[in-house]
Amino acid sequence: MAIGKIRVKNPIVEMDGDEMTRVMWALVKEKLLNPWLDMKLEYYDLHVKRRDETDDRVTVEAAEAVLRHGVGVKCATITPNEDRVAEYGLKKMWKSPNGTIRSMLDGTVFRKPIFAKNIRPFVSSWKRPIVIGRHAYGDVYDNSEMAVACAGTAVLMFTPAPGGAAAWQKIADFTGPGILQGIHNTDESIRNFARACFAFALDEKIDLWFSTKDTVSKVYDARFRDIFRQEYETSWKAKFDAAGIEYFFTLIDDAAARAIRSEGGFLWALKNYDGDVLSDLVAAASGSLAMMTSVLVSPKGCFEYEAAHGTVQRHYYRHLRGEETSTNSMALIFAWTGGLRKRGELDGTPDVVRFAAALERAALGTVEAGIMTGDLLAVARKSAGNRRVTTEGFIDAIGGRLRRSLVRKRAGEDRS
Ligand code: NAP
Ligand code: MG
Repeated sequence: MAIGKIRVKNPIVEMDGDEMTRVMWALVKEKLLNPWLDMKLEYYDLHVKRRDETDDRVTVEAAEAVLRHGVGVKCATITPNEDRVAEYGLKKMWKSPNGTIRSMLDGTVFRKPIFAKNIRPFVSSWKRPIVIGRHAYGDVYDNSEMAVACAGTAVLMFTPAPGGAAAWQKIADFTGPGILQGIHNTDESIRNFARACFAFALDEKIDLWFSTKDTVSKVYDARFRDIFRQEYETSWKAKFDAAGIEYFFTLIDDAAARAIRSEGGFLWALKNYDGDVLSDLVAAASGSLAMMTSVLVSPKGCFEYEAAHGTVQRHYYRHLRGEETSTNSMALIFAWTGGLRKRGELDGTPDVVRFAAALERAALGTVEAGIMTGDLLAVARKSAGNRRVTTEGFIDAIGGRLRRSLVRKRAGEDRS
């Protein structure tokens, strides 16, 4: 049966990438999106060679396009190290594209696991995903540190730019060798982080938890707590009440203990280091890296979706040798559905939102029917019906399921 395509009104910024994810990216577009959607894609090729040829200008242009259009979808990309410079003959070790895009969008990254009925989290009480919102600025990632070799005094000092007396206080009297570290953050960055978290929780209609160690860090961590509270009371409380969701602040150790005993289903906002550690813990405890999506939310009102995993290099080399691969495209597919849903919401086109939901149901339905890639087979509930499929076989199975659901729906509409 021929079916008319769904029109996506405004452009989506498409950022292509590297290795196995680039292979899957093309398959997902060819088999799951193009047959059904009439999309305007503004395409940027972030393949590592293309970044090299353009002296990384293409990454900057892609980020500018996301700022312009509001919605982007990104494939995984190689962050060059010495091996990659040699492998691809690069001019230099270009910076991480994600880092470049994140700093241009000034965003917060939210990581959300995809749950399937037959892939149970290792934490048995978790019934819904825990989303991690990690502050991606400052603290120990932008520190200044030194080792001291002998006895002496360390001080913390601030010199005001407009002039006036410097403020200082003692950190410690050393009686022998030791170490020292200075870290910082800014009110503006913390406020943007808070806004991104409140907006995300409201968008997803889930509770927001925030936790710091403010009992010990009475100035630094307490500032985070106070900015979140001010932001909540002035701009979000009424909206949260109307949506029936809660903002909850507690100590980081209390939050960690509660999270393990919880049913999940909330956004957990975390400072940079806490988010680094706990997002990996939540990802691993939720099942598989290939079932984790990621969205960068900018205070400038734009959204960039991607899979949380990398380019799956080892599978790509197998693919290049002509061997069969069984690489999981779930997180890539959910990056596209995330972008399409957001585009549809911003454009006021509910049929695009419904298509995104239908594709997600088809993808989850495939896994829940036992048709899965190798990574999932290893962690899925054992069942005689479970079957391992290839990279392409998995996408084809999802495509078949999607087609059946869309044709059924269209036939229903024709009859009514
Ligand atoms: P990776 O691509 O995430 O893969 C690590 C391992 O996890 C794989 O070897 C595979 O395990 C498993 N895995 C990850 N995704 C999978 C999927 N979709 N299906 C099945 N298994 C999957 O990390 P990496 O190998 O450390 O990094 C490769 C490249 O990705 C690097 O150049 C790095 O710079 C880049 N990277 C990019 C991003 C990004 O763009 N967002 C993020 C991280 C890394 P098995 O081999 O055991 O099957
Ligand atoms: Mg980490």
